[in-house]
Amino acid sequence: MQDLKVLSPEEIKGLDEPRISPSQNQTDYSKKIYLESYGCQMNFADSEVVTSILMEQGYSTTSNIQEADTILLNTCAIRENAEQKIRHRLQSFKPLKAKNPHITIGILGCMAERLKNQLLEEEKIVDLVAGPDAYRDLPRLLEEVEDGNKAVNVFLSREETYGNIEPVRMHTNGVTALVSIMRGCNNMCSFCVVPYTRGRERSRDLDSILKECTYLFESGYREVTLLGQNVDSYHWQNPETKQSVNFAQLLESVAQLNAELRVRFSTSHPKDITNEVLHTMAAYGNICKNIHLPAQSGNDRILDLMNRTYTREWYLERIQSIRNILGESCGISHDLIAGFCSETEEEHQDSLSLLEEVKYDFGYMFSYSERPGTPAEKKLSDDIPEEVKKRRLQEIIDLQRIHSAYRNQLMIGSVQCVLVEGDSKKSSAHHFGRTDNNKVVVFPKKEEMKGEFVDVKITHCTSGTLLGELIN
Ligand code: SAM
Ligand code: SF4
Repeated sequence: MQDLKVLSPEEIKGLDEPRISPSQNQTDYSKKIYLESYGCQMNFADSEVVTSILMEQGYSTTSNIQEADTILLNTCAIRENAEQKIRHRLQSFKPLKAKNPHITIGILGCMAERLKNQLLEEEKIVDLVAGPDAYRDLPRLLEEVEDGNKAVNVFLSREETYGNIEPVRMHTNGVTALVSIMRGCNNMCSFCVVPYTRGRERSRDLDSILKECTYLFESGYREVTLLGQNVDSYHWQNPETKQSVNFAQLLESVAQLNAELRVRFSTSHPKDITNEVLHTMAAYGNICKNIHLPAQSGNDRILDLMNRTYTREWYLERIQSIRNILGESCGISHDLIAGFCSETEEEHQDSLSLLEEVKYDFGYMFSYSERPGTPAEKKLSDDIPEEVKKRRLQEIIDLQRIHSAYRNQLMIGSVQCVLVEGDSKKSSAHHFGRTDNNKVVVFPKKEEMKGEFVDVKITHCTSGTLLGELIN
């Protein structure tokens, strides 16, 4: 999944930083698309589907906004600041639009779905709005804009999985790839906008997932991350044989494709992660021993208000099962929200004590942001002052940083199998890669080894990175 390091508030903000689709070096068609992606890994995977659909229609992509005919922003709505960022970005397009009134500006993804037509009224610069299930319709929507109209499609589907679309890999290192296995979410956590922006849960067919992973392996990729809001509730039924496939079975099928293909997955909901999944992970050396298990809070009253459907005790039992079945070295990460509605100081202390009890390798930590239309917005009061939320968040981040450093120190002296992803960001004399339990390792480069599995002895660490030397 993402880099294993403790994030400062600035870095957490950085998670919302966009990534720009590079030029795909295709035939230089007249219509050029510039696409920026914000938010979660699902959005980045979706942008690869969008690019595929548009390139199929003869569009090309560019990383130079100045030469674009169409600017698309694939957006996130999970917290208010994610939407503010998009609105600011739209302001910055005004000079471009003034210079070239024919340029098309489109909003895709969760913010498009949440605001629908309202977005066209509030942001006059926007010509096109397309929700996460409307990407096949993008060529028609773009034509509608060319005809001088505004275009909107925010229909949420119960079936769409884009299963038959081969994503165009962008931002790729040629070694690791995201593979979407399901869409939507049925969980209705009271704070969360995802069920409203991404619709009902549906699982992609097994054959198309296996085909995509096989193709990736044959193209030189050595790691796939199976993606969904709640991967453990993957459930697909073969329409011909009526045979059902659950997540453990899917995981096993992907792992069996080739022992040289590493398999990761994200995200697991604590109520759904079964011992069957954990035993499947234990049985295959190429299924990475790392689990992202969002907690959200360490207090039962708050978990109930959040409608997470588990208790602290249940959550800790799942952590114990992970450690029993997969061992102490299995990487475990979390999501935690500070300052949810009516959270008392004692209840906040329960979140800190949960961190203390688990000592996670890594965490994504947020202060609560009320989202319009969610059950929490309708029924609860967002009554924790911003400065209190901020202070509680900082306490959580500070403690997580200590635990990340602790977990990394435990690895000093060990030899780790590292999949090399490329050069270290700071120095081309160093390679960087990841361990099985998803820790970033930097080590001096001897020769070009991108895409290879190598043994690295861990010699030093920071709270975010392991440092080591190549052996043999
Ligand atoms: N499906 C995953 C799960 O159940 O844990 C999480 C998906 S959500 C895109 C990622 C994280 O954003 C959540 O785990 C939660 O911690 C955080 N989040 C969601 N809504 C939020 C809100 N209104 N305010 C603050 N953080 C929020
Ligand atoms: Fe949101 Fe909960 Fe679904 Fe995760 S499981 S996407 S937090 S509603």
